[in-house]
Amino acid sequence: MVDRAKILDTHLAVNAVFAVKQGLTRKEIAALRPAYEALFDVLNNPEKYPDPVATVTEMEYNLQDLWHFPRDAKYHKYQLWMKGCTCPKLDNAELIGHTEDRYSVSDCPWHWRH
Ligand SMILES: [Zn+2]
Repeated sequence: MVDRAKILDTHLAVNAVFAVKQGLTRKEIAALRPAYEALFDVLNNPEKYPDPVATVTEMEYNLQDLWHFPRDAKYHKYQLWMKGCTCPKLDNAELIGHTEDRYSVSDCPWHWRH
């Protein structure tokens, strides 16, 4: 069983280091934590949201803004982290950065024909 709270902590720690390298201000770095906490709340509790897939997509664009990256769906990666997602992880990981398309499977409760 994956400890999802630990994943968020690790993620924030790694991102804090990267944020300094990226030249983000202290205020911008402080804005990352609530953004990731909100994102992980959707990823960990998708059933609480009317449209978790669209919500995560919007949050990924928001994160790209916070990081001063261009808004680009080719780099979105968090859909696959959604609880209960059965889409192929490795095949999809190879697409990140190359295309907006992602593989989905018919038994995924979130992404099939979304
Ligand atoms: Zn899926």
